[in-house]
Amino acid sequence: MLTHNLGYPRIGSKRELKIVSEQYWSGKTSRKNLLQVGKNIRKENWLLQKESGIDLIPSNDFSFYDQVLDMSLMVGAIPKRYQGLLTNKLSYLDLYFAMARGYQKDSYDITAMEMTKWFDTNYHYIVPEFYKNQEFTLFSTKVIDEFYEAKEIGIQTKPVLIGPVSYLLLGKAKGESFQTIDLVNKLIPVYIDLIKKLVSLGAEWIQFDEPFLALDLTKKEKEVYKQVYLKLKSSFPDLKIMIVTYFESIQDNLELIADGLLIDAIHIDLVRCPEQLDVVLENIPERIHLSLGIVDGRNIWKNNYQKSLEYIQEAKARRKENTILIAPSCSLLHSPCDLDLEEDNQNLSTEIKDWLSFAKQKLRELSTLKALTLSEKGDKVFENLERNIRSHENRSNSERIHNSEVDEKVKAISKQDIVRENSFNLRKEVQHKNLNLPVFPTTTIGSFPQTKKVRSWRYQYKKGNISLTQYEEYIKEEIIKVIHWQEEIGLDVLVHGEFERNDMVEYFGEKLNGFAFTKFGWVQSYGSRCVKPPIIYGSVKRPNPMTVDWTLFAQSLTSKPVKGMLTGPVTILQWSFVRDDQPKSVTCNEIALAIRDEVQDLEDNGIKIIQIDEPALREGLPLKQVDHKSYFEWAIQSFKIASSAVSNGTQIHTHMCYSEFNDIIDEIANLDADVITIECSRSQMELLNAFADYKYPNEIGPGVYDIHAPRVPQDEEIIELIRKAQKYIPIDQLWINPDCGLKTRGWEETEKALKTMVGAAKQLRKET
Ligand code: GLN
Ligand code: ZN
Repeated sequence: MLTHNLGYPRIGSKRELKIVSEQYWSGKTSRKNLLQVGKNIRKENWLLQKESGIDLIPSNDFSFYDQVLDMSLMVGAIPKRYQGLLTNKLSYLDLYFAMARGYQKDSYDITAMEMTKWFDTNYHYIVPEFYKNQEFTLFSTKVIDEFYEAKEIGIQTKPVLIGPVSYLLLGKAKGESFQTIDLVNKLIPVYIDLIKKLVSLGAEWIQFDEPFLALDLTKKEKEVYKQVYLKLKSSFPDLKIMIVTYFESIQDNLELIADGLLIDAIHIDLVRCPEQLDVVLENIPERIHLSLGIVDGRNIWKNNYQKSLEYIQEAKARRKENTILIAPSCSLLHSPCDLDLEEDNQNLSTEIKDWLSFAKQKLRELSTLKALTLSEKGDKVFENLERNIRSHENRSNSERIHNSEVDEKVKAISKQDIVRENSFNLRKEVQHKNLNLPVFPTTTIGSFPQTKKVRSWRYQYKKGNISLTQYEEYIKEEIIKVIHWQEEIGLDVLVHGEFERNDMVEYFGEKLNGFAFTKFGWVQSYGSRCVKPPIIYGSVKRPNPMTVDWTLFAQSLTSKPVKGMLTGPVTILQWSFVRDDQPKSVTCNEIALAIRDEVQDLEDNGIKIIQIDEPALREGLPLKQVDHKSYFEWAIQSFKIASSAVSNGTQIHTHMCYSEFNDIIDEIANLDADVITIECSRSQMELLNAFADYKYPNEIGPGVYDIHAPRVPQDEEIIELIRKAQKYIPIDQLWINPDCGLKTRGWEETEKALKTMVGAAKQLRKET
């Protein structure tokens, strides 16, 4: 039985890659230095995996930005707009970064490639762009170079490639419409070229990531799968081809895999889909090795050895041991690097630390599981098992995680708790009387620029260099400024600016019971961007109000309404590491009850508008259609628990961004928020078409300018967009606002853009 790994985090345990990349982009360090840091990380990772006893260690899992973009360069899928850079002999690396981030230099103004979420994770990949007459060539030899690099330090690796079928399915057809999968015959020769070189250097195993093989496939896609792996196997009869799936179960494609694919190993995700083990063992013949993904690659909990050993025993009972491999469920890219770095983190108790395992620890778990499988009772390694059992017992019995009061409250949630007092039509009248807003009311999404100054105060306060009072004084000054400024330019519904928040989830997590925080638990989100998700380990409870003081302070400065600003339960859940000992839906309900109390407190204190952000509602959607319904049931219920306690006159807003929403309008309508502000400008209001078709009854603020770039919109552009919006949505339902929060923007562009936006609204009011 072999242990193997599918991929290791490449940001460096102290985010070395992030730091050096950003320095390189701003011209503060040399390419040589950047390349060296990359090389060091790869070496460290390989050696670490070797020391941890991993039998098959991956290579080409490293990336300077994204593994899908790496693949696009490998096969020469470089969109035309970058050709000028190519002929101008821009270095390979700079071309690569230009594709990822755009290129605005030396009279060039080339947009970046699109980025989107990697399945249901918070990792974003660069979407390949394909054209109908697309040609592929072997453009970069990264995978070969890295295989060779590892070999030089004495490590025979298993190169990782995104499988050709998944690579095509991840891409988007541009220009003339066609199916990307139709490019397969042009693509395969390049893969064959690459593999030929790897094999000649001595590669025995190659890992092909084919996550789509665990999703719903069309007949045609299945045919292409057969064709591709037939071709690869017949070209390389001695190569061991391993296909890797994750995040879903392969049970619907078993026949295809067992009878149709000429492959040597299949990897399955037993953490997400343990129920597939039985049918997989039943149907996958022994000639195909089976890799059991038993160590959670996406969450931070210590492996349950007893459970993992059961899976291994089950497999051993039904096939030869030397046809079994064990591995993490998916690439460890989605895990933080090293729990050891948390040693002196005071915010993480020793007790909780004992429940956790990050990438480095997960490797050890694998080799321990292998040792446990191969040894006899009484061997020394069984002490590990006993310790593991004790640790799990401690966790499940710990007082920290249980709170019967919270359990009771969740159980007591009734139908009445999840509906507003009256229907929207009635509420609307009361709210309009209450708020007395003009047509085309203007507002923002919540945050205003988080300047270096603001962040440094928080840093100083956390370090103990300034007192809480001092810190709060600073924040108050910012709020005073931002309230007056909003009044001055004539916005109708004001916000306090969210200056006190480091992050929209972390802020609430820090104020709620049941959350813990790491110091170095960084996970790559995209490129050099990393996130440090909180850990939800126990019952969620709100010991004290979280936002009331700041909101009331802001409201005390103005007679215009100030929106209370909260993060919704689904988003808090989605952007945290969650408990694996109870269903997500229960945790989400607990968070929802805490937010509900906050909403109630805001209302009791006279706040008339409360926004509950749910940007992550869409991203929590399960990968398979059959699971959508039950997801939405609990997700929508959680939002409604949070939002329904208020009286008719209190206006509930929600906000969404980051995704396409065309196909979930029904669900958005079921949230029954009085107003939704939604990202829209990049799609030129096209999204509203779906709202119009649905006859969406509540109010909508379609974003009128993109906040992701510093560019200031012109008034005609905004007016044009709002006119377009009116074609879809009746005037009395329309709000005017930017696409999203402004925290990543500078003040200068923010001032200009918002003035323009308010001006546009005033202009349009004249016409009504
Ligand atoms: N209220 C948040 C803000 O303005 C919303 C952020 C988001 O949608 N991601 O920053
Ligand atoms: Zn947003």
